[in-house]
Amino acid sequence: MPRKIILQIYPDKANDSDYVFKRLLNDVGLRAENINSWEIVKRSIDARKKRPQIRLEIDVFINDLPKQSIAYRSTLKSGNRDAVHIIGAGPAGYFAALKLLENGVKPIIYERGKDVQARRRDLRQIQQFDNVNPDSNYCFGEGGAGTYSDGKLYTRAKKRGDVQNILKILQEYGAPADIQIDAHPHIGSNKLPKIIQAIRNDIESKGGEIHFNARLTDFIIEKGILKAVVINDLTEVPVNHLILATGHSARDIYNLLVNKNVKVEAKPFAMGVRIEHPQALIDQIQYRQKPRELHLPAAKYSLSCQINGAGVFSFCMCPGGFIVPAATAPGELVVNGMSLSKRDSPFANSGMVVSVGPEQYGREKQLDGLEAVRYQSKVEQAIFQFNESASQAAPAQGLLDFLNGRLSQDTCPTSYIPGVYSARLDHLLPEHIVLNLKEGLKQFGKRMKGYLTKEAQLIGLESRTSAPVRIPRDKESLEHTEIKGLYPCGEGAGYAGGIMSAAMDGQRVAFKIAQKIIDQ
Ligand SMILES: Cc1cc2nc3c(=O)[nH]c(=O)nc-3n(C[C@H](O)[C@H](O)[C@H](O)COP(=O)(O)OP(=O)(O)OC[C@H]3O[C@@H](n4cnc5c(N)ncnc54)[C@H](O)[C@@H]3O)c2cc1C
Repeated sequence: MPRKIILQIYPDKANDSDYVFKRLLNDVGLRAENINSWEIVKRSIDARKKRPQIRLEIDVFINDLPKQSIAYRSTLKSGNRDAVHIIGAGPAGYFAALKLLENGVKPIIYERGKDVQARRRDLRQIQQFDNVNPDSNYCFGEGGAGTYSDGKLYTRAKKRGDVQNILKILQEYGAPADIQIDAHPHIGSNKLPKIIQAIRNDIESKGGEIHFNARLTDFIIEKGILKAVVINDLTEVPVNHLILATGHSARDIYNLLVNKNVKVEAKPFAMGVRIEHPQALIDQIQYRQKPRELHLPAAKYSLSCQINGAGVFSFCMCPGGFIVPAATAPGELVVNGMSLSKRDSPFANSGMVVSVGPEQYGREKQLDGLEAVRYQSKVEQAIFQFNESASQAAPAQGLLDFLNGRLSQDTCPTSYIPGVYSARLDHLLPEHIVLNLKEGLKQFGKRMKGYLTKEAQLIGLESRTSAPVRIPRDKESLEHTEIKGLYPCGEGAGYAGGIMSAAMDGQRVAFKIAQKIIDQ
């Protein structure tokens, strides 16, 4: 058993292994000749001190050596058994495919978007020319919504799977080793595409199939059993087990399910804005340093409170990041956040959202499980239509102007490439969101002195925080509660909220199916 040692070290020394080793000897009174090996197992920032310190959790091996773990990729087998079909090549779909291959089962994936490289051209089209391709955008395409993201890899859903296993797999496919030890690991959207490509190469080399530009357009269901799916309105593909991992933005899938009388349930989600500050200001608040010292990463924050029974919270905070246009169809305006691995843009952005529940969407005329989707979509379209130029330019309001109910004379500098224009977000957003957001922001201003500043602005609309629908599945078999052979999976089905939890759900569903096939 290793001896656990905690060291607190100033940032400029935390990556100097000779220094860390000396501190191990001095602080803990160990002798060099008694140490077989040592390794950092957890790294976090302690910003409570006058000068922030890096907290290192170190395993020191005195009588033994660290266990050598088996390379994950060597555990993949050729997929010779019955094929399992997967719809969607996001984290849920790809991690499901890998799990099937661990068990010798062949995955066949259909993805409506393009491969990760070709997808870049469509992102440029949205950023620079306002053209939203409904099959290839920030949410759709190889790697799913997580590809051109911040690549934050933490989750609160630790009980839903093996977080360390997902991190190990990502590292083997090219993610930096730091993700294994950082308290808040992240990859960055410059590195994610290569990792996704490497995963695809392994899936294909083991006999799996991946079809791009292949959208599921119909389900063939007979007497409660899923018999086949139709791809691109053309090709009927018979299926025994179908993993449906189409993400939270595939509204056509939700509509199709309802049209086929497949049960779906409306579910609470959250909606609001992106808030953008200068990164230097967030660094100053969190680290009390301006500029922050070289070895500290761009500072982040996480805020939440309850106002009148509604949750108000920061969401997907991107230090040193960019705000991006995340619409999935023409005629809607949605923003989200991403960053590169260095997180070195001069802006800090975060979703700042309010929970939306049945009190809001339950007033819709039709209650068929899609009422929350319609509510979400209505606000996205209204925000888009407000701007007569029909572009992806987003409405913006200075933070103080939002709180005081006035139009901003000027907009602040922003990372959002399609541009912003001054508008009364306090008039454009639903009243419930405006009232609670105002109160929440005031509370956050008390917790982070300097957060409420004229240098910050709100940009709308942040609405794709999680799925507004749950596709019900049996707790044990993970099959749809009414349709045999259909396995709702990942974020779109309401069982995940982020890259890690979607990947874990993919593994979980795939393992259930693989077991079933093996037992047959
Ligand atoms: C800009 C942005 C930044 C984000 N940043 C982070 C972050 O830093 N950390 C984090 O944890 N999460 C982040 N997220 C959220 C995260 O990406 C999702 O939670 C995660 O990708 C969900 O995984 P999934 O596999 O369930 O679905 P998705 O990733 O949404 O994948 C679904 C896939 O299904 C495909 N599909 C949809 N319909 C069909 C169809 N009819 N036929 C065939 N294929 C179809 C889509 O094209 C897509 O590729 C971010 C999201 C966005 C948009």
